[in-house]
Amino acid sequence: MKKTIEDYDLNNKKVIIRCDLNVPIKDGKILDDNRIKESLKTIKYAMDHNAKIIILSHLGRIKSEEDKITNTLSPVANRLSKLLGIKVKFIDKTRGTVLEKAINDMKAKEVILVQNTRFEDFPNKLESSNNNELGKYWASLADIYINDAFGTCHRSHASNVGIANNIPSGIGFLVEKELKMLGDRLNKPSRPYVVIIGGAKMNDKIKVIDKLIKKADYVLLGGGIANTFLVAKGFDMKASLYDEQSIDHAKYLIDNYSNKIILPVDGYGSYSYKDSEVKKYCFLDNVYDSLMILDIGPKTIELFSKYIKRAKTIFWNGPVGVSEFHNFEYGTKKMCEVLKESKACVVIGGGDSAAAAIRFGYKQKFEHISTGGGASLEYIEGNPLPAIEIIDEK
Ligand code: ADP
Ligand code: MG
Repeated sequence: MKKTIEDYDLNNKKVIIRCDLNVPIKDGKILDDNRIKESLKTIKYAMDHNAKIIILSHLGRIKSEEDKITNTLSPVANRLSKLLGIKVKFIDKTRGTVLEKAINDMKAKEVILVQNTRFEDFPNKLESSNNNELGKYWASLADIYINDAFGTCHRSHASNVGIANNIPSGIGFLVEKELKMLGDRLNKPSRPYVVIIGGAKMNDKIKVIDKLIKKADYVLLGGGIANTFLVAKGFDMKASLYDEQSIDHAKYLIDNYSNKIILPVDGYGSYSYKDSEVKKYCFLDNVYDSLMILDIGPKTIELFSKYIKRAKTIFWNGPVGVSEFHNFEYGTKKMCEVLKESKACVVIGGGDSAAAAIRFGYKQKFEHISTGGGASLEYIEGNPLPAIEIIDEK
């Protein structure tokens, strides 16, 4: 078991909390502050326990000096101040005397937000390559390190692995919940256990399907992922997205797990990958013209619902259609509706599927919506997450 923030005496200690405050910002305005809100529990706990809190986070990617202008964490400091009800001091530097003095002057319960850790990525990629000196330097600023940024746990960066390598470490409440939900809950699922996989990136998803098909009772496939399986079954999917290289693999899975794999039977398509063009309905064993299938249809929802209604545990990754197009959001929206009605423990993992569920108003309706896209899939596949591995054991 990994140590958590609760395993440390925080009184008057300098505590670095690595948060994921990577929120969408346009013209200095925060478009969605979900990630900031998700970070509050750990920060508040540290405040309540008299810590001096130093928050580190990345924001976007930094590949030029211009990127530093648009990716400053300054607006996040303001929002964080509002949400915490105290003045969070923003330090516009990732190292140096200004930062060091601000930390040395801190009193218990005060919070400092340090500038975007990825400012260290230009020009030398120090943060993202887990530069030794940088990890050591950040560690030298504090007594304890707490990792609460799940979204980057599958990466070895200076701000996670680097710091944890040098001072006592633990995980925060958000990471603890992610590990519990994606780990224990899905490793020992109440059955029937139903997995829903959609989205587009067949390369990534086929590995996930390989792992989950063994654990799950049923795997329902939608989105671009289903298309490759339908082609493997011998259907002509016309202009639909599918992955030529994965057809044999899909065939193998269909042959070996025919009772577990549930494929869509109908869908909606268009003649190009665009919103607001024609929307045509068809059965998937009879895709006509040069249609490109972009969503699942009502008969598929009906079919999927039968499995969802009986399930006790459900893991969903990947939208079942192009849910960012108004014309083709139907399937993903309906799935949210059906999942909300189910009595199962519903866990959603994956950047786009999580974003869709939240956009459609289901943030509070499910047991857990993961904050990590890539990290959640890596973890579900059973791969170790380097930024978790490095954390001290209890
Ligand atoms: P997640 O981030 O949830 O893991 P992915 O990144 O794999 O999901 O896939 C999300 C993308 O899949 C979305 O951009 C969506 O438009 C696309 N997608 C879903 N269904 C289809 C489809 N039938 N054809 C093409 N693209 C699709
Ligand atoms: Mg994605």
